[in-house]
Amino acid sequence: MVRVRFAPSPTGYLHIGAARSALFNWLFARKMGGKFLLRIEDTDLQRSTEESTRSIIEGLEWLGLDYDEDLVFQSDNAEKHRAAARQLVEEGKAYRDFTPKEAREDRSVKQEIAERARAQAAEGIDQRSNPFRDLPQAESDARAGAGEPFAIRLKVSREGQSRFADIVYGEQERGYSEIEDLVLLRSDGHPLYNLSVVLDDIEMGITHVIRGQDHLTNTHKQILLYQAFGAKVPEFAHLPLILAPNKAKLSKRKHGEVVSLTTYRDRGFVPAAFRNFLALLGWSPPDGQEIMTREEMIERFSLEGIGRANSVFNFHENDPRHWTDDKALWMNAEYIRTMPLEELLPMVKTELRSAKLWREEYDDDESAWFEKTVELIRQRFFTLKDFSSQGRAYFSDDFDFDEAAVSKNLKKEPRLREWLPALAVRLGQVATFSAANVETALRQFADELGVKAGLFINAARTMLTGQAVGPSMFEVFEIMGRERSANRLRSGVPWFDAMEELGDV
Ligand code: GLU
Repeated sequence: MVRVRFAPSPTGYLHIGAARSALFNWLFARKMGGKFLLRIEDTDLQRSTEESTRSIIEGLEWLGLDYDEDLVFQSDNAEKHRAAARQLVEEGKAYRDFTPKEAREDRSVKQEIAERARAQAAEGIDQRSNPFRDLPQAESDARAGAGEPFAIRLKVSREGQSRFADIVYGEQERGYSEIEDLVLLRSDGHPLYNLSVVLDDIEMGITHVIRGQDHLTNTHKQILLYQAFGAKVPEFAHLPLILAPNKAKLSKRKHGEVVSLTTYRDRGFVPAAFRNFLALLGWSPPDGQEIMTREEMIERFSLEGIGRANSVFNFHENDPRHWTDDKALWMNAEYIRTMPLEELLPMVKTELRSAKLWREEYDDDESAWFEKTVELIRQRFFTLKDFSSQGRAYFSDDFDFDEAAVSKNLKKEPRLREWLPALAVRLGQVATFSAANVETALRQFADELGVKAGLFINAARTMLTGQAVGPSMFEVFEIMGRERSANRLRSGVPWFDAMEELGDV
């Protein structure tokens, strides 16, 4: 049975690269009918925070990546990790390194060690000539017994090659001579990353390790540990990186919130849309169909479908409309436009609530109106935020006018000052205030004045919604209703007056 895990270190927000690793693990587990486990690697006590753990869990929940079994905290296993390292010493597979901590941390000593290593390498001598590597066991035991502090290092073979077949990157090879005798336990008893990861993966019965390719070199070291513990080595699938537009590594420091998963929640992404987008960073479905439901994605997913090429996250810093990857925005717009309305409505409700635009009537006797409105305006929106910003005029009389729209649709024709209130009167006489009836009346009104209907359509759009673009204007009239439409067409009078005073007209 397939068992995979997502093993983040809780030292900040959930990075989208990590979220992508979680997603691929989850997809693989769901596809294979296996288990997807979550392990919080909180052994770096200084940098790990509860807040970060919370944001990781919330992020996974937001993406809909449900995990199986109990959440594991790596720090709970520290004692077992220490015991396992000591066991390796007893078996002669690891050794105690009594180099004093101060000496290891002292700059000049470090430099001296580095220089000696360089000189030895030039002479073809193995660099890992740790003086304690071959200390007789009895002496090592005696010094430890006397209370002398020590770190524990793995005794890495001096000859031979480490090899494994990565599911994504193929055959991997590394000479043992290039692998240091890695520290397993620090002299203060703190177990280090490679040891803890391997022991936990063994204990959790992990069959496939799926993680970023920045871990490829660790994998060689970890395989040595599986062998030392006599455990079965899992399969490995390393994932290509996600890069910034200039091909640099995506980093929090340089790229800020665009890298953090919570940004997408806070900026109005539909979780399923972001999940769909993330899946395509590095993986392509065999049939090329990009928009997939959860089930379609699971059905099509395979580790073999992951490519080796790094993906580029295309965003334009300093451009608010393209603050994140264009494809991510496009994908979100597609979801908003086409997802089942009943799934979208609660998201719009949440958005309107937080913008203080929600009215209880929308859930009650105005629910039909609310649904019709959302159906109409969702066609052009990119994020859920658009419902409360560009869409504000549908839910409130207190909305802003887009300057460019005003210049283009209103200021160019001063006679609109009289014509718009006249249009309001004319529309007031329409029998049923339907899109079709409003259209007939508006076109007739324009004909009578000998001007193009487009002049009124554009002007009315700006008067009623504040915008230059939007859905079919006749549908907008119907949604706004007779009274609101007339009021807004008339509200132009004081407004044109103000323009006059300012010398704009
Ligand atoms: N805690 C490690 C990280 O966040 C885990 C790597 C792994 O998946 O083994 O990079």
